[in-house]
Amino acid sequence: MTSCIFCQIVKREIPSTKIYEDKDTYAFLDINPVNPGHTLVVSKTCSRNIFDIEEHDLAKLISAVKKIALAVKEGTGAGGVNIQLNNESSAGQVVFHTHFHIVPRFDNDGLHLWPGRKYQPTQADSIRNKISSVLNLTLLKD
Ligand code: 5GP
Repeated sequence: MTSCIFCQIVKREIPSTKIYEDKDTYAFLDINPVNPGHTLVVSKTCSRNIFDIEEHDLAKLISAVKKIALAVKEGTGAGGVNIQLNNESSAGQVVFHTHFHIVPRFDNDGLHLWPGRKYQPTQADSIRNKISSVLNLTLLKD
């Protein structure tokens, strides 16, 4: 059975620059870093993204992300880090194995966060109602 590229990295079927490993988690340098030290953190258990990852896998993953984020910040001398999780291709996901990006950030590194846009009148209430109704349906099911 073929497995996804990050499963192959976890299994050492293709090489990576390892940053950290434990029983459940593997972290390695992104091959195309936004800044040097840009690290990807994955569960050894494959899931597509936030929408299907098991909660206990996510809990272990985010706990490792916290630890590795500090090491990335200290090790690179960064002033801070961005942590990003892309979910589905509309949101920029290219590799379909849940992975957190830890991007070291430096003052005046020339990168910009996404721009904010103002709501039109009634738009915030309208979108809030749509999201809340889905959440309420989910709560009813649980
Ligand atoms: P996504 O857009 O799916 O959130 O990000 C995928 C990331 O994986 C990209 O930043 C890309 O550079 C990185 N990537 C893709 N293939 C490989 C690979 O074979 N090795 C490593 N180390 N990183 C990869």
